[in-house]
Parts: sequence; structure tokens; C-alpha cells
Amino acid sequence: MAKLRKHTSPTPCVRVAPSGVHGLGAFATRALPAFALLGLYEGRRYSPQEVAARTWDDQLTYLFTLSNQETIDGAKGGNGTRHLNHACDPNCEAVEEYDDAGQVLLKFQTIVPVEAGDELFIDYCLTADDGSPPSDYPCRCGSSNCRGTMLAPVETS
Ligand SMILES: [Zn+2]
Repeated sequence: MAKLRKHTSPTPCVRVAPSGVHGLGAFATRALPAFALLGLYEGRRYSPQEVAARTWDDQLTYLFTLSNQETIDGAKGGNGTRHLNHACDPNCEAVEEYDDAGQVLLKFQTIVPVEAGDELFIDYCLTADDGSPPSDYPCRCGSSNCRGTMLAPVETS
């Protein structure tokens, strides 16, 4: 069942401002060590059936699909964490955790120490279920190991 939280949790370590890469970005308000909690990724939750039944237009980058196949739409009721942009060489990551009620929570945290004012990035590792080519999701993160796309790397085994 989709559930909208009444209040979003605070993200005091995150400031939203114009990004150097794309649109708005999230920036550290202070120096943070590695594995510092930035906040929970919040928003309206949808079941896989609800996701399939909707037209999402351009909102792809606010959608986060969890391991239990629920999807969080950060565009509705989300907090500052939804503004983290993608980078192929990120300084943050998203980790799942379970709360007392057994609900999957999505935590955003740093993976390396960051300085105050640093822009925060995660690797979106998008999957294009409709078979869109990687060029439909171009990446301009500018890191030396940039894949050129926000899609997840193709697994070669
Ligand atoms: Zn890149």
C-alpha cells in the first residue's frame, strides 16, 4: 500500500543549491567523515503494480526502487536527499535498512570524507526496463572513469 509520510525527516548535513553538473544538487553543510548519515530517502511509496500502471514522464531520477520492489518517489514528499546527483565516481551511497515495523528504509550516507561545500553524489545505477539505450541517460559527471551514462554497468560474466 502506498503511504505518504506526514513529515519529512530533517537533513541538516545537506543543503540544496544549483549543481555544477545538473539542475539542483545537494551539498555538504559541514565536513563529514566517511559513512556519515545524510538522511533518509523519503517520498511516496508505490507497489510494482502501481509503478507499472503510471506514466512517469521525466521523473525517473526521483524514483528509487527498493529490494522489496517498492518504489519511492522523492518528487512527492521527499527531502533534500532527492537532490543528490549521479556521478560515476560518487562520494555517497544509498543503503537499505529495516525499521521496527519491517519497512525498508533507504539511508543515504557518505562513503568517503567530504568537505563543507562539496557536492554530494551517488551512483544511480539506473536500469532501463524498456530497453532504452545508455545514450538516453547521458552522464556528464566529468570524473575520469565516467561511463558516459547513468545506467548501471552491463554485467559481463
Ligand atoms: Zn559519469
